[in-house]
Amino acid sequence: MKLQAVKGTRDILPNRQAFWHHVIGRVGSVMARSGVREIDVPIFEHTEVFTRSAGASSDLVVQKEMYTFTDRGGRSITLRPEFTGGVLRAFIEHGMVNWPTPVKLWSHGPIFRGEQVQRGRYRQFHQVNCELVGLPGPLIDAEAISLLYDALRACGLKDLVVRLGSVGDPEDRARHNHYLRAALNPHREALSEASKTRLVLNPLRLWDSKDPGDQELLKDLTPPLEHLSNEARDHFEGVKSYLDDWEIPVEVDPAIVRALDYYRRTAFEIHHSAIGAQSALAGGGRYDGLIGHLGGPDLPGVGWAFGVDRVLDALTVDEVGIPKESGPDLFLIPLDEEAVGEVARLARHLRAAFRVEHSYRRRNPGRGLRDAERSGAPLAGLRGAAERETHSLTVKDLVSGEQRDILEDNLPAFLRKAGRA
Ligand code: AMP
Repeated sequence: MKLQAVKGTRDILPNRQAFWHHVIGRVGSVMARSGVREIDVPIFEHTEVFTRSAGASSDLVVQKEMYTFTDRGGRSITLRPEFTGGVLRAFIEHGMVNWPTPVKLWSHGPIFRGEQVQRGRYRQFHQVNCELVGLPGPLIDAEAISLLYDALRACGLKDLVVRLGSVGDPEDRARHNHYLRAALNPHREALSEASKTRLVLNPLRLWDSKDPGDQELLKDLTPPLEHLSNEARDHFEGVKSYLDDWEIPVEVDPAIVRALDYYRRTAFEIHHSAIGAQSALAGGGRYDGLIGHLGGPDLPGVGWAFGVDRVLDALTVDEVGIPKESGPDLFLIPLDEEAVGEVARLARHLRAAFRVEHSYRRRNPGRGLRDAERSGAPLAGLRGAAERETHSLTVKDLVSGEQRDILEDNLPAFLRKAGRA
């Protein structure tokens, strides 16, 4: 059998690394400037962390999308299908409840879900995640959304739209579920298979269905935003007015719902034309009650996640100028056998401050200079018998063609003067 990557997983090859670092770097600076601290949590946890945080009626549990296995000690372990469960487990375990509120945390790393693989939908993908814990008011929801918006903008994305809705409080949700069951039970047979299950377990999630038949049935029904209590409505209006004030483009989406059970009130997504209307670049919401459910104190929270893979697709469409892989500062060419070891020693020394590459075997000058050009270096340093005699290199500027002898000891100063560090 030919060895291949598992379906739904991808290699990030060296030429895509600059892209990757660009996104994580830009997001990291937005977070640092906003007092959001980075946290790493394990890639796998006890399965219960995720079954509890996602909820029994979530797709992760119902559609069996989690990568779960039994370890040698007979414990059930799951590869993280989302960040929130692990981050909140860490929050509780490390007593962050005693930190000043809000506690603001961000993370990034791989996420695993056994989903149907298609464009923009993988089984291992990379998420950036953020959780703001401890405050109940609309200001912190607005801050979460603005952090997400600013992070995506900082990556270089244009034309982003925030879609904002609310799933209300648990009582609103119960009322809405009751309403949907009453309205749709008579048409049960016309629903898609997944939605038949949703109608039993969690009717609210029907609004997330992409199935045209389901959408036709939902068309004439009142969405969750129109079923809110006065308190939840005020909260929603509060979030929206902060975002309007901060000039973040918002579209109200009365039917927005989130995949996990514990979301309440605020729910949001960010969309970009390149990704298509059906799938979001990012999503999040408020999850008051979840920390208590995970065994911690009864603290409110709000969070979001975006998929780096999808952001990269969108960046390609926006033609953002992401730095190309750059070449080394200097490429060394050994012109005889003895010089092979000499250039390697010199390279090692110079690498304390500069990017230096070299040929690993003797080259004639023509071939050596071709190697240097291919590496992308602006300067080539040739070393042969004559240069050995004078402890120097013949340094050639590959752009102007200019050539000069530089003493080994003077190379760092020369490279600095040439603007290489
Ligand atoms: P979710 O946790 O499902 O709300 O997803 C948050 C974000 O993660 C989405 O908006 C996508 O950008 C990304 N995402 C979710 N599932 C996948 C997947 N299977 N492949 C790639 N990206 C994904």
